[in-house]
Amino acid sequence: MLDQDNSWEAVQKRDKSRDGSFFYGVVTTGVYCRPSCPSRRPLRKNVRFYASAGDAERDGLRPCLRCRPLVAPGPDPTAELIREVCRYIEKRSDEPLKLEDLATQAGMSPSHFQRTFKGIVGLSPKQYVDAARLRKLKKGLKQSGDVTQAVYEAGYGSSSRVYERTDTQLGMTPNQYRRGGRNVTITYATIETPLGLIMIGATDRGLCFLQFGDTRTGLLRMLEKEYPAAILLAMSKPYHPDFQKWAQALNDHLAGTHPHLDLPLDIRATAFQIRVWNYLQSIPYGEVQSYAEVAAGVGNPNAARAVARACAANRVALVIPCHRVIRGTGELGGYRWGLARKRALIDQERSHRLAIN
Ligand SMILES: [Zn+2]
Repeated sequence: MLDQDNSWEAVQKRDKSRDGSFFYGVVTTGVYCRPSCPSRRPLRKNVRFYASAGDAERDGLRPCLRCRPLVAPGPDPTAELIREVCRYIEKRSDEPLKLEDLATQAGMSPSHFQRTFKGIVGLSPKQYVDAARLRKLKKGLKQSGDVTQAVYEAGYGSSSRVYERTDTQLGMTPNQYRRGGRNVTITYATIETPLGLIMIGATDRGLCFLQFGDTRTGLLRMLEKEYPAAILLAMSKPYHPDFQKWAQALNDHLAGTHPHLDLPLDIRATAFQIRVWNYLQSIPYGEVQSYAEVAAGVGNPNAARAVARACAANRVALVIPCHRVIRGTGELGGYRWGLARKRALIDQERSHRLAIN
């Protein structure tokens, strides 16, 4: 049995020596913390005490993102090492980078490095190098407008290689990208889901638009606004088999039976948006991170506001899971398609994840 007054005193003093002996939850934010959590003190009437993290979780609370009650205290030297390698890659993305060389940087064997890197970053070292090159290319395209030069400066040996890559990653080819998606045809259709209407827009390469809305005409207006230069066509029935597959995957995902939504994307974005959106796709189903954590994750710790703006600019809901980013205080922050939907998505993912574990 926890002594309520004694525990409250420890919380008010942020008593580090009591960490691990109990946790406190704040019912208004739905978050639980260690006694020493640096976040603002809650009102006494909103606080509950728990002997274990499991008790707090069973009460429906989420672990706080600031004091991380589930993580052993202290910095993780392996994660720091891997972050160092990420910075190394960012600086040298225009050079040929081999797995062996990167492993040597980290002082690990190639296979151990591969596993560790993927575990921490969420991408393989090769995917990370590719992403870094792609960011550099997009930046070069925006700045110089000279496609050939930008391709070489980004570290691609020849322009044919970048065209191969962009088929799956950038979606549009570099020239189209520079003109903001002009001459691209987007077909669209609306499906009904438990969270309301969803309009899906796709090019022949992948999804470029996936948004919630209240009416079909409202959704079409949003699509026109996002892609003013594109040719928009309503999808004719019967729907293309690829599209049927995507719609089915989305409905299964919303029903909780298809946690990993891995659909092809074809979006245009700034280098920073691409970086943030790639990172969001690495946040596991059922988990959330704060805007500041995402900013640190993309190597820009002071860019929490820019991360929030990138989330707000997302036009492919669910596939780019911007609903998994919340405020460090545990508050939901914003959501382009309404906080009720954000709350429903987070709660649903969480309950399905608990059921799997
Ligand atoms: Zn906390």
